[in-house]
Amino acid sequence: MVAISPVYETEPVGGPAGQGRYLNMVAELMTRRSPSELLAAAQRAEAAALRQRGERWGPRTLDVDILLYGEEKIATPDLLVPHPRMWERGFVLAPLADLAPELVAGKLGAELLEGVRMAGTLSRAVAAPVPTGAGEAAAT
Ligand code: ADP
Ligand code: MG
Repeated sequence: MVAISPVYETEPVGGPAGQGRYLNMVAELMTRRSPSELLAAAQRAEAAALRQRGERWGPRTLDVDILLYGEEKIATPDLLVPHPRMWERGFVLAPLADLAPELVAGKLGAELLEGVRMAGTLSRAVAAPVPTGAGEAAAT
């Protein structure tokens, strides 16, 4: 994990009527995993959060999408990168701009920010120091 954005609370975009607000954030990773391995890891995280696949764009416990993978362009049946809808979504661009403003410069108009509100941060939890020896223990 290189960096994480603040958490944004956003009005739902698309999907069924009457659903609640969403929490969104962007994380920057450094990885040796290939794009497809990264997607598999994202889907394992969704499964671990007990995500059920119901109505498209309906409420879900966790949705992990790959927005960008370096500068690569990927178009396979399972993976489109850059994420095809990211440039239309304020709830993606606002946290992305916090981590990489140069990527978003000029692309985040006020209309995209409607219904997108910074709600807080996870940084205290993530920044907590790892106890000495925990890395070796985890690797064994
Ligand atoms: P959405 O993210 O659009 O709400 P899902 O999370 O259910 O929908 O994802 C549906 C499919 O999108 C996944 O099975 C995955 O193969 C595909 N997909 C294509 N490109 C990406 C990407 N960049 N990140 C994550 N999933 C992707
Ligand atoms: Mg997804």
